[in-house]
Amino acid sequence: MAPGKDQLALLGGKASVTLDQTDMFKWPRFSDEHETAVLDMLRNGNLSGFDVTKTFEQQYAENLGRKYALCCPNGTAAILNAFYAMGIGVGDEVIAPTLTYWASILQVYNLGATPVFADVDADTLCIDPHDIERRISDRTKAIVVVHYSGMPADVDSVKNVAAKYDIPILEDCSHAHGALYKGREVGSLTEVSAFSLMSGKSFAIGEAGIFFTDDREIFDRGLLFSHYARHNEIETNALQKYAGLPAGGYKHRLNQLTSALGLVQLRHYPEQMREIDKAMNYFCDLIEELPAIQLIRPLKSSKTTKGGWYFPLMKYNKEELGGLSLQTFAKAIGAEGSVCNPGSNTPLHLHPLFTETDVYGHGKPTRFAHLPDDVDKSRFLGAYPVAEKVYQSVFQVPWFKQFDTAIIEEHAAAYKKVVEQSASLLENDEGDDSSIGGFSTFFTESRNNRS
Ligand SMILES: *Cc1c(COP(=O)(O)O)cnc(C)c1O
Repeated sequence: MAPGKDQLALLGGKASVTLDQTDMFKWPRFSDEHETAVLDMLRNGNLSGFDVTKTFEQQYAENLGRKYALCCPNGTAAILNAFYAMGIGVGDEVIAPTLTYWASILQVYNLGATPVFADVDADTLCIDPHDIERRISDRTKAIVVVHYSGMPADVDSVKNVAAKYDIPILEDCSHAHGALYKGREVGSLTEVSAFSLMSGKSFAIGEAGIFFTDDREIFDRGLLFSHYARHNEIETNALQKYAGLPAGGYKHRLNQLTSALGLVQLRHYPEQMREIDKAMNYFCDLIEELPAIQLIRPLKSSKTTKGGWYFPLMKYNKEELGGLSLQTFAKAIGAEGSVCNPGSNTPLHLHPLFTETDVYGHGKPTRFAHLPDDVDKSRFLGAYPVAEKVYQSVFQVPWFKQFDTAIIEEHAAAYKKVVEQSASLLENDEGDDSSIGGFSTFFTESRNNRS
């Protein structure tokens, strides 16, 4: 067949996506206001102070309806700090979903604690509340909930389990700034919440992290751990005698250039998130009826729940397209000029760092270094059937930043065209290989945009 207008681009036809995409995927989106704020900061100096950082913390906390916020140089540090502040220490166990970025949990090693993974829910990709309960022991000191890929987790169900055993929850909101769960913004739902604010994230100000709590002692412990220059803010009497030196041996002060950016971004991100939400929902509506694609999005009928849309993922069901591999499907979408990146994070329990690596020379895996030798390991070894399967059957769709219907319609048309003509790809389909997914390089800047 001669290449015609409607043939798949992968087979020599014309690509579906033709319009200029420069602005659509540009991220972060900075304005003159951002530039002015940074320049003012440069001219005024005091980059290593914390007055601007404190203003940023207070305003962000106020927006979220939280009492206290503490900035750190990145999300990884904010989560480490939050774990310490929550009292996680030697011999403790912390439950986290296995399907997440490593920085949701790996920091517990620094505190002598053990990560215990839970499986995820097949429809939301977030931690499965039912699986949490069988992972709990009398050493469990916290549960981490991640709103994975922008989808709010089933926090109420996790809270029910946590309340039964009196275990606090840390919400890792790094994928979901601005997402709503039953009318409440994520980050305001549990005892402690933490966000990465690095450039790839939805609230993007370079490199920064922040955690929130309403508990003064938790906040004070955060200060004690790594913010020695602010120890005069500590109100908890029992902690005051330790002031002066950072208890953790860390310095987690944020560069104030970034805080200045953050203050401006606080004014802009609700509107940016609203536009992204509108654009993504429009795209989802257009591809919703297509076979083989299962949307991962908050219920359309709900006015109070919305996605955070970071690296939006959808599920692929190849049986509905005659068994066409995800990788060939994705290649065909890519050839049409749209985005379809197969896979998500490889489940963390599959990496040797979480099974056998002896990081600090304990003479045994760091994983178990501080647990009694006779501890029952069955709770956290073995299979995680949902996560192990699902990470290779999801794909990232375009992360639209602007509500530009003409461009979004072109991308939807690309998906529709490939689905409708998928049979023509079966003959040369070599099947999926094992390269789908990845531990750390998965969420990279290049995947952020159309590549
Ligand atoms: C990005 C990210 C982090 C860590 O944030 P950094 O700012 O990159 O250190 C933590 N958790 C999740 C889920 C993330 O995606």
